[in-house]
Amino acid sequence: AVDPHPPEKLLARRARAIGPSLSISYAEKLKMVRGQGPWLIDHTGRRYLDAVNNITHVGHCHPHVVAAIARQAARLNTNTRYLSELILDFSERLTATLPRDLRVAYFVNSGTEANELALRIARTAIGKKSTVVLDWAYHGNSGGMVDVSPYKFKRKGGYPQPDFVEIADFPDPYRGTHRGMSEASGRAYAGDVARCLEAVRAKTGTPAAAFIAESISGVGGQVVYPDGYLKAAYAHVRAAGGVCIADEVQCGFGRVGAAFWGFELQGVVPDIVVMGKPIGNGHPLAAVVTTPDLAARFANGMEYFNSFGGNPVSMAVGMAVLDVIEGEGLQARALETGDYMLARFGDMAARHPLIGDVRGRGLFSGVELVRDRATLEPATAEAGWIVNHIRRQGVLASTDGPFDNVLKFKPPMVFGRAEADILIDALEVAFADLAAGGGA
Ligand code: PMP
Repeated sequence: AVDPHPPEKLLARRARAIGPSLSISYAEKLKMVRGQGPWLIDHTGRRYLDAVNNITHVGHCHPHVVAAIARQAARLNTNTRYLSELILDFSERLTATLPRDLRVAYFVNSGTEANELALRIARTAIGKKSTVVLDWAYHGNSGGMVDVSPYKFKRKGGYPQPDFVEIADFPDPYRGTHRGMSEASGRAYAGDVARCLEAVRAKTGTPAAAFIAESISGVGGQVVYPDGYLKAAYAHVRAAGGVCIADEVQCGFGRVGAAFWGFELQGVVPDIVVMGKPIGNGHPLAAVVTTPDLAARFANGMEYFNSFGGNPVSMAVGMAVLDVIEGEGLQARALETGDYMLARFGDMAARHPLIGDVRGRGLFSGVELVRDRATLEPATAEAGWIVNHIRRQGVLASTDGPFDNVLKFKPPMVFGRAEADILIDALEVAFADLAAGGGA
């Protein structure tokens, strides 16, 4: 059957019906009509391998998750002002994946809302507002979150750094101030967090409320921090009287393979953990988990109410997602497939001079493209060209990082070797075509 709403028609309607600040992927736009596991199917019936959607963590339209939504939506959906065992069951099961003291959960509807709440908790508990963030960080789309997201306010359409925000040097071991993964490099970068904490004290005479950082940087270009970075940074923050917030929106829930949470790879325990994207497999669900002490200090008399957060449908979804992660052994799969992909990328790097760096953990990886391995000149146009080339071959990825020159891979966790091989074959064709002058 011919689709009465083909992409060309939708593009014209979209230009009128929704805001032009929303972007759309790829040179040749796609209309997806169905999802299944790691696959998306477009309006012509063509299958695309999804190597980039980390939200659909357990696979597109996973039947166990879909059934949980349908079952609970047909039974009851209301708010947290009635008693329900569902929210308690999910809170207890979720916090059981975390270190001991992280026991109290709040449920919200997006990563943005979760980071907003995390900062509110920290700022209320400490009684201060100043916040230390990483350069190139992104924490959400609200006004409050753009204020703590240099990735947004420093770039096109942005505004000057807010006076209550200090930006710490981005701990990028490949192109940053301190190179390499050593602890010396980690400590040196953490020294810049200490400098920010000092700057807050010099400006305000009081401590910073919080330090917020992803445990592995996603929008910064899949950057794994040097060893000991968060350990040393958290020590500085705590010595200065602040709260440590881990944004696990992109890297949590077993994606990094060797651990369930990204911060575990750095050997730290945050005071507040922020979860989003994969927690609901696409259903709008996010969470904040903190300690009983911080939760008590946040309960200063002002009620926290959230119309949709923690509703029974969302709680059923969260449970179903954890069922699948455990039942299908997806963390182990992320480790196995992820290691395989990183090894294959490493092999490609030995043959393609355009590849400057290969990095990541588990199914959270990046390939940074440079025109010159000495100057590290970013190969931004080439990265965009490659992503569009593999899209034409039926594989979906994206680019990111300060220079948009990092090929980004964070597929649904059902990705196995067969899927990884499809991705790598497409990349090999793209690199070969580019080297043969195809990009000109
Ligand atoms: N934190 C990080 C690290 C993110 O990547 C994102 C989304 N890209 C957010 C927070 C915001 O999440 P949401 O889009 O669900 O509001």
